[in-house]
Amino acid sequence: MSGIYIHVPFCKQKCTYCDFHFSTTFESYRTKMVETMQQELELRREYLTDTCLESIYFGGGTPSLLTLEELQQFFSTLHANFTLSENAEITLEANPDDITDENLANWRNVGINRLSIGLQSFKEKDLNWMNRAHSVQDALKCVELAKSYGFQNISVDLIYGLPELTLEEWKQHIALVLDMQVQHISAYCLTIEAKTALHKMVATQKIFPAGEDAQSDQFLLLIELLKTAGFDQYEISNFGLPGLHAVHNSNYWKGKEYLGIGPSAHSFNGISRRWNVSNNSRYIANFNTPKEWFEEEILTPKDRWNEILLTGLRTSSGVQFDQLIALQELPVSFQEKLIEFSANKWLEQTDNSIVLTEQGRLMADHIAAELFL
Ligand code: SF4
Repeated sequence: MSGIYIHVPFCKQKCTYCDFHFSTTFESYRTKMVETMQQELELRREYLTDTCLESIYFGGGTPSLLTLEELQQFFSTLHANFTLSENAEITLEANPDDITDENLANWRNVGINRLSIGLQSFKEKDLNWMNRAHSVQDALKCVELAKSYGFQNISVDLIYGLPELTLEEWKQHIALVLDMQVQHISAYCLTIEAKTALHKMVATQKIFPAGEDAQSDQFLLLIELLKTAGFDQYEISNFGLPGLHAVHNSNYWKGKEYLGIGPSAHSFNGISRRWNVSNNSRYIANFNTPKEWFEEEILTPKDRWNEILLTGLRTSSGVQFDQLIALQELPVSFQEKLIEFSANKWLEQTDNSIVLTEQGRLMADHIAAELFL
């Protein structure tokens, strides 16, 4: 089974740390954008070898800005072109300020059964410098409101490693989220991406980033507290109650097929990776002309090997040797590295898999890169 990702490239305002693709001035062409995305869904039906969908994910940008009519358009095109499996996971990313009675009722009516809510922080000062559109008050009340509309599968996003965030404050943020009794938590360490407002704020010393030790301490506290509360850390940044791990994102890490719709969206079908142009006007203007609105790369066995390591090592199930051996024999240098990393207690080996230890997870990308072909 496959998944569909729908990238909604609109936001109310620009968060200072964000380097995703979105626009804050979209009203003049939002109808055209939504129409073009319907066309893409129809045109690219054949990209997936299996059109039975296990998951649909509205991400962005800010999909909670879609109107009821726009959502209905998406669902009508999806139903006309794909088969939704029974119990398909249908997620909508939502910002706390969009979680209103009216929106929640609409989302339930169109078939959304999972919300991913960007809480990020419970400190007003942080929400201000991050230029988030919501307040701490919005963050505190939105989950309860969503539950009152029957949402029983709710994920929240938090950011740690923020400037001046103390370990005690971070502990309180985790406690607040645990009190909300959500089913899933994604927690990301703040990264300072090039070309963002935050990058400029750091360069001009308006903001002083947290140190690596503070970030590691917060990450380790997160793992400890969520584990005690019964959450599985099934991927470095993702924690779910047993049986409630995110289906859509898990399928990315398992190497399953997915179709990405909208500007900047990526797709993968086992043979190729494809990514749409990260520009709203070029996506719309080029869609019906011979001009390219996407790029594509056919994956070599080396590309697949490296991807399996990069994604698999982030998960609690790790990387299966079978997956790698299907591409080529394990090189001697690879086996030597495994011995070295096992001795460092960065990973554990079984007969058929390698899984990172807690210590190893702090440097997952580095370890994966060392094992690349
Ligand atoms: S709302 Fe989300 S996508 Fe939009 S700018 Fe903020 S973090 Fe980025």
